[in-house]
Amino acid sequence: MAENAVTMEKLVALCKARGIVFPGSEIYGGMGNTWDYGPVGVEIKNNIKRAWWKRFVAESDNSFGVDAAILMNSRVWEASGHTTSFSDPKMDCKSCKTRHRADTLIESHSKGTVNPDTMSNEEMQKYIEEHHVNCPVCGQFNWTPIRTFNLMFETSRGVTDESQNKIYLRPETAQGEFVNFLNVQRTTRAKVPFGIAQIGKAFRNEITPGNFIFRTIEFEQMEHQWFCKEGTDEAYYNEFKQKAFDFLLDLGFKREHLRFHDHDKLAHYARAACDIQYLYPMGWQELNGIHNRSDYDLSRHQEYSGKTLTYVDPVSGERYIPYVIEYSIGADRLMLAVLTEAYDEETLENGETRNVMHFHPAIAAYKAAVLPLQKNLAPQAKELLAKLKKRFSVTYDEAGSIGKRYRRQDEIGTPYCLTIDFDTLENGTVTVRDRDTMEQIRLSPDEVISFLAEKCAF
Ligand code: ATP
Repeated sequence: MAENAVTMEKLVALCKARGIVFPGSEIYGGMGNTWDYGPVGVEIKNNIKRAWWKRFVAESDNSFGVDAAILMNSRVWEASGHTTSFSDPKMDCKSCKTRHRADTLIESHSKGTVNPDTMSNEEMQKYIEEHHVNCPVCGQFNWTPIRTFNLMFETSRGVTDESQNKIYLRPETAQGEFVNFLNVQRTTRAKVPFGIAQIGKAFRNEITPGNFIFRTIEFEQMEHQWFCKEGTDEAYYNEFKQKAFDFLLDLGFKREHLRFHDHDKLAHYARAACDIQYLYPMGWQELNGIHNRSDYDLSRHQEYSGKTLTYVDPVSGERYIPYVIEYSIGADRLMLAVLTEAYDEETLENGETRNVMHFHPAIAAYKAAVLPLQKNLAPQAKELLAKLKKRFSVTYDEAGSIGKRYRRQDEIGTPYCLTIDFDTLENGTVTVRDRDTMEQIRLSPDEVISFLAEKCAF
């Protein structure tokens, strides 16, 4: 099929039909831009998170995980700058009452030739007026002035109305890693450079959420902060750019569907920043970010908390606040990229079309499907199923013709189908069908175990 010809409509429909992602609160008419992962989707997402953790924590020489609280002391968000500057420029259309981001309006009006990241609110306002940028929904030119809109969700904590304190749902997981810098360093006795990683939920009151699970108001982030000494930061920044890219290639992404995008406008404290973009069904968009954040984060937390976050080099006795190289990727945004990349409509020799998801076997929800050729072979099939379940995520299906059962597994990306047939009764072997090539071999149950272990490793 043509490169990334899959449409969002096809992906959303497949995800709903096959238990990958359902619309949130569906029986109540839904809740805009929330999505629920179904039985197949939760397995895929867990596998994505597991692969990331394995690569960036388990296999790393000096990285450690944390699982910090979602609700944090409000001072954290003052120190990080989120209470004052975590905002987007919004404009409302007074004619059709829809809300828009001024930067997005400029980006699409100029077809990407103007970069609003480098513009102030006044400059954006001027551009929109001078170029008469109309509302993309109703076509009118009837805007409110640009206002900045803080993206943090607020809630309150307190047992009586009078005692309620404003708190926030975290808009990123990173601060949980920063505030635990010394806790992790002391308890692990790690020496700089070392990393702290976390996977967890984040919440943003996005002005223009959408594109399925690409931009939602509740999502999961996988973030890794690498603490290093000033002077080594540039080399580590480049190293993490490469590591982040290699991770995606190893998951099976085509190189030509990925590209680096350097930021033109840097935050005042940042030394360098780039995204890796992926060719989503709606075009090139940010999949993850890599940032050289200097010593800004720890310095700010030291200032606001009044607690020293200085690292003391055990050999030289030198004291300094480490620099941070941040690598941040959304689990849901990566899931959408994985789904897009895997989707295929294949025309078979007999002219039929086969929908197949070519997931990396480590990412597929089920490593294998156990299928008795006929129902009376179910006892032998269930015996194999029980044996495999101790090691792998495996599914079972005895309903319908074997061809239809293969197609169902192809559609959810199960890499191997194990068919129990009459030869199984004779010699104990089963047919192993490969999802991608549709070729079949015969293996004994013990061989199946080592075969799956080898093929499904990441
Ligand atoms: P964008 O420019 O797309 O809003 P961002 O630059 O604000 O993203 P970061 O704050 O750097 O994003 O967050 C790191 C990662 O978290 C992003 O690269 C993306 O993968 C993910 N992410 C951010 N916002 C969302 C969201 N609303 N929904 C899903 N994933 C998100």
